[in-house]
Amino acid sequence: MNEADSRDIAASFGRRGYTLTDDLKKADAVVVNTCTVRQRAEDKAISQIGRLRKWKLARPDGKLFIVGCAAQKLGGKDLKRRFPFVDEVTGARDIEYFEDALAAQLGPAPETGYPDSALFRSPQSSYVTIMRGCSHKCSYCIVPAVRGPAVFLPPEEILQDARLKLAAGAKEIVLLGQTVNAYRHGKTTFSELLKKVLGLPGLARLRFMSPHPLYFDESFTAVLAGNPKLARYLHLPVQSGSDRILKAMRRGYTRTQYLDLLAKLRAAVPELAVSTDFIVGYPGETEEDFADTLALIKEGRFSMAFCFKYSPRSDRPEMASHLDEPAMEARLEKLLAAVKKNSRLVLNERIGKIEEVLFETENYGRTSGNFGCRVKAGGAPGALSKALIEGADKNVLNGKVI
Ligand code: SAH
Ligand code: SF4
Repeated sequence: MNEADSRDIAASFGRRGYTLTDDLKKADAVVVNTCTVRQRAEDKAISQIGRLRKWKLARPDGKLFIVGCAAQKLGGKDLKRRFPFVDEVTGARDIEYFEDALAAQLGPAPETGYPDSALFRSPQSSYVTIMRGCSHKCSYCIVPAVRGPAVFLPPEEILQDARLKLAAGAKEIVLLGQTVNAYRHGKTTFSELLKKVLGLPGLARLRFMSPHPLYFDESFTAVLAGNPKLARYLHLPVQSGSDRILKAMRRGYTRTQYLDLLAKLRAAVPELAVSTDFIVGYPGETEEDFADTLALIKEGRFSMAFCFKYSPRSDRPEMASHLDEPAMEARLEKLLAAVKKNSRLVLNERIGKIEEVLFETENYGRTSGNFGCRVKAGGAPGALSKALIEGADKNVLNGKVI
């Protein structure tokens, strides 16, 4: 979400003639988009803001904006007191009004539309936010507190955003939200929204992130099965393989329900690739609970997993992990090793298959299942081509355009 917000913020600047630079010395404005999902992210944001004091001293006319989740948590007043050189603070709940904050500092935008494909997430792929916030209450998670309850954007607004990005050269759209498949606006359900976006001219592939296991229904399975443009890929965070921990986390599903869902979706679309998120060291996680998580990697046939050390987001003593840092680190290492080993097996299953690749360069693209794929020649940037997979190397498939 933060990455998508950053790109939309960069677009707001782009409409005023600004371009991106990696060179702080050249920057006329700096935006720090902060995250607080884990404590480390918040700490990094704070030290980054501190380091910008020097920039502001050298560039007193430069504008410094602090935005996002940590800005929401810490509050504009406190941030400005601690860092008086900050010009503007926009918390995550107000991020959609960033355009107004920018207009106040820099004046209205003379241009409309999406300014530059350089702001896409990859050469042909762009995010489109379809909901903000989250109405779940997962026990470990700060997102609902900093981003507020779920708000679904109107379908017309979503389609217009997608059209602008397609017009700017996007071939792939990634619909975004914290429980993206919970989408509902008036009579428009998630499946209906998918069909509308799939109908947009110029679209080669549609992805979405992150769905929640509770919101898949028959109509989604039908849309997935019937629309090859909808990626054969799900990033479906499971968090833990232990029913006890899932319950404590208030995830709303059991291990069996999660696996049954995967089985149902794979029955409809056998080539479906699935990746996930895991948290290790949740309060009270025993060796047995952790063993259940390790075992789930293989059962879920995950192609990839983001693995996180539990980070307490509340001061309540019962929300502290009982593991010390070395024990936490040891579980993370074990989990990462198991995920890596399994990813390799899942990747190897693709050898000998024909995959549809959306090329970013002549030699590299992504398959529908979100595997990177290299070819020696024959890829056309922005075009879909079929490739025969001949091998795999680290996390990437090697193929031949056919
Ligand atoms: N809405 C998504 C997840 C958004 S947060 C979902 O429910 O699936 C992204 C990931 O950060 C989560 O999937 C979780 O694995 C991780 N995460 C969230 N809070 C965390 C915490 N307090 N400590 C460690 N990891 C956390
Ligand atoms: Fe956080 Fe996702 Fe749970 Fe919402 S559904 S509370 S964003 S982990």
